[in-house]
Amino acid sequence: MKKILLALLMVVSLNLRGTVIPARSVQMDPQPAETLPTVTVLPDPFQPEETGTEETGEETEREPEDPARTVEPSRPMVALTFDDGPHPVYTDQLLDILEENGAVATFFEVGQKLSSAPEAVRRAEKLGCEIGSHSNRHANLGKLDPEALEVDLAAADVAFEEVLGTVPTLLRPPYGATSKALKTDSGYSIVTWSVDPQDWKLRDVEQVVAHVQGIGDLDGQVILLHSIYESSVEATRTLVPWLQEQGYQLVTVSELITLRFGDTLEPNRLYNYDYFRCPPALSEAVR
Ligand SMILES: [Zn+2]
Repeated sequence: MKKILLALLMVVSLNLRGTVIPARSVQMDPQPAETLPTVTVLPDPFQPEETGTEETGEETEREPEDPARTVEPSRPMVALTFDDGPHPVYTDQLLDILEENGAVATFFEVGQKLSSAPEAVRRAEKLGCEIGSHSNRHANLGKLDPEALEVDLAAADVAFEEVLGTVPTLLRPPYGATSKALKTDSGYSIVTWSVDPQDWKLRDVEQVVAHVQGIGDLDGQVILLHSIYESSVEATRTLVPWLQEQGYQLVTVSELITLRFGDTLEPNRLYNYDYFRCPPALSEAVR
């Protein structure tokens, strides 16, 4: 379908990494269809404006329908995020869980660790997960001078380019630490989180699960987890199906920002706790 193709090109040109439409079939809608109309993962914000050439094209030629995962802007969404990987064992275990449940997540990977599990990172991308930068060596970027900051982020980009052939547009600074230079000159969309179960500190499956389950309304939230602890993998094993049972669609950070918040991903912009904690009312998110 021409429109879809154009929309896809627009998505790519928006540097959303083209991960919005993984070529796989996912059924993750446990809810009654009559109340929840299916919406393609390419919503109106991505539809190209009508142009002269577009209008002449009847939609007679349909490309083979991609069995795309669908995201419904009218329904609640949560973004799971995993930092500090990749891990040679746990990243794949997390991907197994996501794949089994038809879910995706965002992985903020450390540049200098990429070579320890390049296949897992490529697999994540193939599954429709999003890959963001978590700096090259997990330094506190808020304390680096502008030159050192640039060197670190550029080194990470080189590592990502080697493994994925592209560089990330999202950056999660380690410890959530930012600086003026980072926010104004790095060129990344800077994403922190809104729910922190402290899995890195607790290393306890039950406590991490209980923290997330005790939050209440999780719609629009970005949950911070780490891909380097077995306990975090096991917490994810419980949380993914639980979140879906609660009616949440598990989406990438970019999908959350564009589809749930109806917003755009811009370079040198910070998407933080204050941003995610107040999603627009669902009726507003739907056109
Ligand atoms: Zn980290």
